[in-house]
Amino acid sequence: MTSSSFATPPAAHAATAIAVPITSADAPLREQVDRARRAGAQIVELRVDCIGDVAAVEALLREEHPLPYILTIRAASEGGQWDGDDAERVALYERLALLMPGYVDVEFETWRRSANLRQKIGLIAGAGTTGGPAEDAPGGRPRNALILSQHDWHSTPAPLAPLFDALCEAPGAAAKLVFRAADARDALRVLVELCRCRGRKPLIALCLGEAGLATRVLARKFGALLTFAALRAGAESAPGQPTIAELRETYRWDALSARTDVYGVVGWPVAHSRSPLIHNAGMAALGICGAYVPLPVAPDAAAFDDFLRIVCEHPELGIRGLSVTIPHKQHALRWLEQRGAEISPAARRCGAVNTLTHTERGWSGANTDGTAFVRALRDTLDLSDVRSAAVLGAGGAARAIAAALIDAGVGVTLFNRTSARGADLARELGCAAEAWSRRGETSADLLVNATSAGMWPDAGESPFPADRLHRGMIVAETVYRPRRTRLLESAAGAGCRTIDGEEMFLAQAAEQFTLWHGRPAPAEAFRAALDSCE
Ligand code: NAP
Repeated sequence: MTSSSFATPPAAHAATAIAVPITSADAPLREQVDRARRAGAQIVELRVDCIGDVAAVEALLREEHPLPYILTIRAASEGGQWDGDDAERVALYERLALLMPGYVDVEFETWRRSANLRQKIGLIAGAGTTGGPAEDAPGGRPRNALILSQHDWHSTPAPLAPLFDALCEAPGAAAKLVFRAADARDALRVLVELCRCRGRKPLIALCLGEAGLATRVLARKFGALLTFAALRAGAESAPGQPTIAELRETYRWDALSARTDVYGVVGWPVAHSRSPLIHNAGMAALGICGAYVPLPVAPDAAAFDDFLRIVCEHPELGIRGLSVTIPHKQHALRWLEQRGAEISPAARRCGAVNTLTHTERGWSGANTDGTAFVRALRDTLDLSDVRSAAVLGAGGAARAIAAALIDAGVGVTLFNRTSARGADLARELGCAAEAWSRRGETSADLLVNATSAGMWPDAGESPFPADRLHRGMIVAETVYRPRRTRLLESAAGAGCRTIDGEEMFLAQAAEQFTLWHGRPAPAEAFRAALDSCE
């Protein structure tokens, strides 16, 4: 093995790399490395503790390296799978690191604690505070780049700055900080620190779990050394890791840069949302330099306010627009009102905001749900055929749709499971309300499901008795996942005309797109993106 046989790790200033972890020897390791490289990885992490087959790792390292490797042997006490003796682990690190993987990842706490490990790894892994990866030891012998890592598998501590400062000052060529995000506020706090520490040391800073996706995608905007992505679904080395295909195709990794504007969907939950898929596809089609990420924020109003406090205090995050969904639409309206911010007449009328936009004039709010619903109706039928509508629900969607239908001259009757809420909304909008139990008796031309009944994962539910559906009725859904809800299936079976929730979904997203980017949304790109995940 000569030093020339390993691929040189990227320099500290190079664009953020994608690192694919290899966690099993189910397929030959070299085959997995080649697949990772073909998929677009620049680095491969060898999780020796998960792979288990040390001989296979050793054999791989003896071959020429098509990519730099990160050598990681994480102990069970550090959240890994190595349950053997620690002295044995140090000896294994030493033996494998001598084969020059490129990077050696060691837990910071273990490094601090074990003089034996410090001494032995220090000889074969670069420990300069300023050196980029793969510095040479005195005498010209190449050393691997040492990554000192800190993990918190349960939370994202506060404050974070001292932890980042300590890792920046610690030895090692690069530092890695990984936390569990409870919601998007933790992810933003980590990105703020990554941004603050930029230039001090090559950093990897990310959050685990669903709420951590923004840190993994935006790592490139904020100049992290690398982000991790799995070769395929099921091969993740940590919760919340996207696949390399998702990262490159859905989140447009290769197009991201420091100039990328950030957009996202704020709600709880948002894992099911198709908004990232279509907004990213729309920006790609028009060459817009933006990234749209899921931002789950805990359901209470205080969490929503706190999330926006972080956004406002940190303009460096570059957040320009937010889609707001369940349960934060009313919270968004109140937040804007408290600031005396601009609120569109439609948002005021329906008491909910589904779009927040940030420009140099500050934040403003709009609601595109109702207008989008009416637009989707007009695209499918002649609205003059619709004189009366029964709207099921009294939440944000029902409010927006009922208000837009009334404005379009349609007589609306609300039916809501909680009757007082339905009656209150009807009074506010100046329309009728009937008891939930009487919904099956409606003779309206149009039936709209604006409840969440039938929405994934409760796809078996329907908010309307199937035997009360009849030919001549038009049935419109707001639920768009699944596309063919139980209600729509029954309605089609009864000979009704149906309009699925995707039509409204695409129309409301298109209006958001225009509010943020000042141009019409590319309808074909939106639809193709949605169809791609059917
Ligand atoms: P929301 O403010 O939380 O209101 C939920 C409504 O659904 C309430 O009226 C609630 O009744 C009712 N509800 C919930 N579960 C029910 C059940 N099992 N049976 C009967 N009623 C039930 O939510 P939202 O923002 O209005 O959203 C409602 C639906 O619209 C969701 O499925 C959402 O995905 C969809 N939506 C779609 C689009 C689109 O673009 N396609 C846009 C916005 C919303 P109570 O008052 O009795 O709790």
